[in-house]
Amino acid sequence: MAETTYLIAKRFNFKIFGQVQGVGFRPFVYKIADELNLYGFIKNSENGVELELEGQILQIEEFISILNSPRLPPLAQIDKIETLEIKAISSKKFEIIHSTANTKNSKVALVVPDIAICKDCLKDSSTSKNSKYYDYFSTTCTNCGPRYSIIKTVPYDRENTSMSKFKMCDSCEEEYTNPLNRRYHAQPISCNDCGPTLTKSIKLTAEHIKNGKIVAMKGLGGFHIVCDSTNDKVIEKLRQHKNRPTKPLAIMCKNLEQVKLLALASTKEKELLGSKEAPIVILKKSLDASLKISKSVAPNIDRIGCFLPYTALHHLLFKELKNPIVATSANLSSEPIIIDAQDIKEKLPFVDFVLDFDRDIINGVDDSLVQVVAGNTQILRLSRGYAPKVIKLPFKSEKKILAVGANAKNAIAFVIEDSIIISPHIGDLGSLKAFEFFQRTIETFKRFYDFEPDVIVHDMHPNYETTKWAKEQGKELIEVQHHLAHIYACKAEFGLSKDYLGFSFDGTGYGNDGKLWGGEIFVGDERKYTFKPLKLLGGEKAIKEPRRVALSMLFDKYSLDEVLALDAEVVKSFKANEIKILHQSYTKNLNAPQTSSVGRLFDAMASFLNLLQFQSYEGEAGLICEQNYNSEITQSFEYKIVDGIIDIEYDFFDKELVSKFINTLVKIVLDISKQMNMEVILSGGVFQNKTLLELVASVLIKENIKHYYQQETVINDGGIALGQAYYKFIT
Ligand SMILES: [Zn+2]
Ligand SMILES: [Zn+2]
Ligand SMILES: [Zn+2]
Repeated sequence: MAETTYLIAKRFNFKIFGQVQGVGFRPFVYKIADELNLYGFIKNSENGVELELEGQILQIEEFISILNSPRLPPLAQIDKIETLEIKAISSKKFEIIHSTANTKNSKVALVVPDIAICKDCLKDSSTSKNSKYYDYFSTTCTNCGPRYSIIKTVPYDRENTSMSKFKMCDSCEEEYTNPLNRRYHAQPISCNDCGPTLTKSIKLTAEHIKNGKIVAMKGLGGFHIVCDSTNDKVIEKLRQHKNRPTKPLAIMCKNLEQVKLLALASTKEKELLGSKEAPIVILKKSLDASLKISKSVAPNIDRIGCFLPYTALHHLLFKELKNPIVATSANLSSEPIIIDAQDIKEKLPFVDFVLDFDRDIINGVDDSLVQVVAGNTQILRLSRGYAPKVIKLPFKSEKKILAVGANAKNAIAFVIEDSIIISPHIGDLGSLKAFEFFQRTIETFKRFYDFEPDVIVHDMHPNYETTKWAKEQGKELIEVQHHLAHIYACKAEFGLSKDYLGFSFDGTGYGNDGKLWGGEIFVGDERKYTFKPLKLLGGEKAIKEPRRVALSMLFDKYSLDEVLALDAEVVKSFKANEIKILHQSYTKNLNAPQTSSVGRLFDAMASFLNLLQFQSYEGEAGLICEQNYNSEITQSFEYKIVDGIIDIEYDFFDKELVSKFINTLVKIVLDISKQMNMEVILSGGVFQNKTLLELVASVLIKENIKHYYQQETVINDGGIALGQAYYKFIT
């Protein structure tokens, strides 16, 4: 008792920076202030929130410690707190001040990604029979649900989202305005009485799935094409219509237990599956997976992509279903994800049944795709849940920069002050629709961040749509070589600035010399080593037909007659006449561009072993090589480096070709790393090869060589924009 008389109220001003707007941070602070008898106010500020707290110092210290505890709302993220003691003014209450004046200027008042339904909302919609949200397909709160996909413009208020047309009922309104409620200022708040409605019943949808129909179902960022994963016939039908013979289809499982029946999942992989981002996680199939779901889901490979329900709608659907479902993005190949039911009818007429609802999707966003490599997350597609993603820089940029990325797996990046903001996955820009989506995304981000670029960074490839677009904008331009951009993407993620030994193993990209690069080793920004080039017989066609790459490697070593006489499957896969024509193209360099791509070497290995002569999707050869890697084989091929060119002495007819080839790549990375005595960066699409990356990482660890590879950002061409943005920064 006596003690309290000595305690004098203190007052502090706090400026908190980070992801603290529109994520339930202010009500969270309100609640804590209430618990701790602290008075004052909180309001949104330009780049975060500002608050003043008055009360006993012990309570204020307790408040600070709670900010650093797991009690923080799941979507909130504090980057920095500035504290200043000010004069106490004997406040007697705590209030949330609603200021809209500043928010428009808040340049990095982060637009938050869409988040999977939280446990509390799941309980409300699935099990709490008395809840007004019971059975409601669009149950959300401040801690979960749609964000990016429903925002038209900032600030993130209901009237700026596609929820604006739904008037809240009294009960929702009460929750929305009560700072102690979980749904306080949750913009998409709605219930069975006042929210969006489904066009068909969930039960009927489930019946169609069970009956072997192809169903299109609206989700957070677009439509999914859904069907029963155990039904061979419907999957074959889907594959035929989508002209997608073997590319694996993702599987949505009822719960983690169901995933475990199909695949092996480590602790880390299980965490990812159940995370608030809820990505598709690529897992190793269990041995009897093919007994539980159709073999056609992911034919010829030992991996399977699984994800868990991430909206109330998905969970309610699974109440009616026993089997896992195929759930793949609804689109035409090389077009963006469909967000409008009308497009389903026009573009995917084979769909039997459509489940739609009347909340519009403003910004299409695909499912994210991840795998675990050497115990670390590797993001292969940065999209729903993860993007827009912010990478913090250690300093502020004076210029506003737009990086337009690559032509495949496109994403864009913006530099504003001390942040690089990466857009969700846009996709391959191989169609007009896709290119429109690219332009639309640029416009969306310009609007969100009140942004007009001073500088545009682009790839060197003169024929990339992104390059052509950049050149039309009348802005200061900077071009960055594709494989160097891969290295810079890694530097950006880890905030690196000095010179590194960078291994950029990739598909093909345009090089400084106008040739196609793809197996480049940089010291700082200088390319020091490259792989001996091979010829792509027939140009683009050689990417679809690994056998053409293999054949050109045979032509490097043997005469035409010798090749024709070889008893090799790759040779037998051609007609003799075709080989003669391709030999002409080889010797005369007709439609036979050279490339140093490591990705193409993997294609050739798969062809020599007759594992794959034609590839129906990008990376298929690499996946098949991985599953034929034999860890008991320790030998590798000899190689030499002459004038910076790495020349491997293959034995094309060795039955352990793949294992020895992968071991050779590992040895090359190790030998050069030891020799150069520098810290190492590994980037480029080839490092999605889990077997290769794990082997390389383990030998580098053994030799104590510090090395980096991307985890939170994309190691394939989805990361090019990030590298381009960061390149401008550092140089
Ligand atoms: Zn929730
Ligand atoms: Zn309501
Ligand atoms: Zn690339």
